[in-house]
Amino acid sequence: MYVLGIESTAHTFGVGIVKDGEVIANERDTLKPAQGGIIPREAAAHHYRLAPMLLKAAIDKAGIKMKDIDVVGFSQGPGLIPALKVGYQVAHLISEKYGAKVVGVNHCIAHLEIARKYTGLEDPVMLYVSGGNTQVITYQGGRYLVFGETQDIGVGNLIDKIGRKMGMPFPAGPKIENMARSGRKYIKLPYSIKGMDVSFTGMETFVSRIIGREKSEDVSFSLQETIFAMLIEASERAMAYCRKDSLVITGGVAANSRLNDMGEVMCRERGAVSKRIPLEYAGDNGAMIAYTAYLMKDYRQRDLTIKPRYRTDTVEIKYR
Ligand code: AMP
Ligand code: MG
Repeated sequence: MYVLGIESTAHTFGVGIVKDGEVIANERDTLKPAQGGIIPREAAAHHYRLAPMLLKAAIDKAGIKMKDIDVVGFSQGPGLIPALKVGYQVAHLISEKYGAKVVGVNHCIAHLEIARKYTGLEDPVMLYVSGGNTQVITYQGGRYLVFGETQDIGVGNLIDKIGRKMGMPFPAGPKIENMARSGRKYIKLPYSIKGMDVSFTGMETFVSRIIGREKSEDVSFSLQETIFAMLIEASERAMAYCRKDSLVITGGVAANSRLNDMGEVMCRERGAVSKRIPLEYAGDNGAMIAYTAYLMKDYRQRDLTIKPRYRTDTVEIKYR
């Protein structure tokens, strides 16, 4: 059985194909604005422009034809409305033209499922960190429960905003990570964790004021040390509370090796395991949507519209 998955929630348009649950193609392109952040309309224009080429590239890579596709999955949300509409339209067009069944997928759950698949960890606490999302998630009673989350902006967003103020183009994550390696001085920054939730706008204001006054290397280093410590603290508390003995970090920010290192140290100290997911599947991609649609096998969904504020914990998981 061939399942094609389309990802279009934000800056990335991705097309993945799985054959009987194994990934055989994963093509994508990310909008990188020359300056400033992502404008939803521009993301949609990017996706419309690249969709035909990426679809063809994925189909060719898989060595199949469009008519071989049995199911087409798409990201229903959460995400930017104009960007989500592109995935919706492409999925429905493929369905009309080639007779594939449509499955709507929650983008966050797709990140979690691809992480479980590639780490082999069955029931971990998951730290999901991307541009727009920051959540600590565990599986309980047929749902992915959000134990803790950001009260304002996503951690990737914070990193990108601060990077932009330091003159770095989007996405700033990898550049900040590099710069942080040469940081020597730890500048005390606001450590904002309330219960299980974190908050980042105070950090944004504080750091904005010290940019230019402190060395960029030291700012990057202190920023990473502080925000990652907050995230790992929340994850550890979720592990203790839910008695789970493994951790997976997923989402675009999971590409950061310092964050993974900190997760590993925390796990080692409590006799738990943590495994890294392959870089290819850390950020937004079509393969995770195809794979999750394959797991769901839910061909009778009543609501196949886009859901810009689709929450992880509203989805009933029937396949676990
Ligand atoms: P996603 O929305 O899941 O595709 O994740 C994109 C976000 O991941 C952006 O905010 C990037 O800045 C961030 N990101 C990518 N690579 C890294 C990295 N090495 N360190 C920190 N953040 C990163
Ligand atoms: Mg994402």
